Amino acid sequence: MNKSRDLGYYGWPMFFGIAWLVCAHIALELSQGADGIAAVWPPSGIFIAALLFFDRRRRLMTTAWVAAASMISNLWAGSSFLATSGYTIANLVEGYLVFLLMGGSSSGRLSLSRPWNMARFGLAAVFAGFMSALMAGILSGNLAFAFLSSWASTVTLGMLIVSPVILFIATDPPNRHELFSLKSLWTMLVVTILSVAAFGQADIPLLFLPVMAIAIATATLRLSGAAGALVIIATIGSILTAQGAGPVTLFFPTTEEQVLFFQVYLVALLASSMPLAYLLSQRENDLATIAGHAARLEAAERAAKVGHWRFGPVDNTVHWSREALRICGFAEHEQPSFEQWISLHLPEDRERVRAFIIEATTHGLPFAFESRIERAQGDIVHVDCRGDVQTDEHGHVTALFGTMLDVTERAETMRQLELARARAEREAAEVRSLAATDPLTGMPNRRCILTNLAEAMDESLQRGTPLSVAMIDIDHFKTVNDRFGHGYGDLVLKKIADILCEETQDSDSVGRLGGEEFLFVFPERTPSELEERCIARRDRLAKIEWDRQVDVTLSIGVAQLRPGWDEQDLMRAADEALYEAKDAGRNRHAVHTA
Ligand code: GH3
Ligand code: MG
Ligand code: MG
Repeated sequence: MNKSRDLGYYGWPMFFGIAWLVCAHIALELSQGADGIAAVWPPSGIFIAALLFFDRRRRLMTTAWVAAASMISNLWAGSSFLATSGYTIANLVEGYLVFLLMGGSSSGRLSLSRPWNMARFGLAAVFAGFMSALMAGILSGNLAFAFLSSWASTVTLGMLIVSPVILFIATDPPNRHELFSLKSLWTMLVVTILSVAAFGQADIPLLFLPVMAIAIATATLRLSGAAGALVIIATIGSILTAQGAGPVTLFFPTTEEQVLFFQVYLVALLASSMPLAYLLSQRENDLATIAGHAARLEAAERAAKVGHWRFGPVDNTVHWSREALRICGFAEHEQPSFEQWISLHLPEDRERVRAFIIEATTHGLPFAFESRIERAQGDIVHVDCRGDVQTDEHGHVTALFGTMLDVTERAETMRQLELARARAEREAAEVRSLAATDPLTGMPNRRCILTNLAEAMDESLQRGTPLSVAMIDIDHFKTVNDRFGHGYGDLVLKKIADILCEETQDSDSVGRLGGEEFLFVFPERTPSELEERCIARRDRLAKIEWDRQVDVTLSIGVAQLRPGWDEQDLMRAADEALYEAKDAGRNRHAVHTA
């Protein structure tokens, strides 16, 4: 703890002690020569505020200061030592009574801005006021009714009027803030002027002016305004009345009557202004709470990109949250109609959305749909709308309520993903086709035709149908290359591949095995059914008119799948038949025999 805080720590109890002394002296001075009666005893309020606000140590320090202040002020005012001691004990006891009735040390920094706390404080103050009077009367030996009732009422009023303002300033930041504002300065100035006008002259009875002053202060500063105005009115009223000015002195000749009237007047002010002030404060707090909720909801909607809306088809009302307006591209102050909203949708979506809403309204069912909105700015927003209907007690739909989620980013991501997927699929198909195609002839390559063969063999085995293959080799192809060059050889190869492909039927397939060798796969055919085709292809080739002296023929080896054979066996058999055809003089076909 640093020095300056130390100073404040010990300084405040002393400050309260001195304030007690000053207020007590003024109150006693005012009532000097007027039967020693004051209307209000503010020191009680000062002491109680300190007890309710301070911690244990500062409570004790304040008690010591107040005890000293009480002794000094009463002796100064001419009371006997014995009476002074009695008064002092009564002053201290009343403070601790209220303190205990308010919950003792557990009261902590008790806030009187809560209505219940204030009501409890009022009751405690009344009780403590009476007990204090009794104690002062007994200890000073003065049990006159006038003394007792005056003591009790001044002490109680002192607590009720002074403590709230001190506690607002000490423990209630919102009320303190209001009391120390510029608005407060003007308000209190008005209250002062009206109070002086009311109590400073006796020509016109203007006692309603302080009532007005409190109403103004309550309206502008609520609770703290009412409490502050009461202190000012009580102070000015007491001083001026004690000085013999004001309407009170005009109507009531004796001091006792004046004081009593003034006290009743203050109680009336207190009772009429404080409940209203509490209601106003409560309303202000509720409004602040609601505004807080609304602000948090708005922030959450903004972060989640989700807005809400409500259409009341019956009373034709609409409500849009700020985020819903933003999503749709409406201006913040707009509250567009249902039709305006529908017309924002892309033409393809418009009727679908309308149908959803009509369906929900007709059947009173919840709904959910995605649609696209074209904003005034020209961009397209994807929204996910879902909601429900609100019905009256007869089950009639009174309103539609829903949320609107901006899913543009998600929709854009999905679109990109779809494009990427389509591209990948296309590329994969291309790669697959390239992997299965012979680049020179454009016909199925070795891998592809062997796959076809494997599949045809599986099927043949499963269904018990025959399967034949024909292996084709161009005769003396090397000489084509040798005589006309490799490029021309390629042309010839391609032409022959075209002829081979020309007459393939549905289930037949043909492919290039490599070099100038080809393979035919004929499901459901026996070699005898193939003879014609072999001859037809050789004839086709023979009829071609080459632009050079090309003399190419085909040798063909045919074999049929036998039970227990695998692909190698079948290929070997076809190869053997091919070599048989070669050996027999080429330009012919041979069938493998078991
Ligand atoms: P045979 O009647 O005994 O089959 O004689 P051939 O000359 O056809 O047989 P060989 O196996 O000796 O030669 C095949 C030739 O095919 C060798 C090669 O130059 C040629 N050849 C293989 N692939 C291609 C190709 O893609 N383009 C060209 N132009 N020639 C090829
Ligand atoms: Mg060959
Ligand atoms: Mg050859």
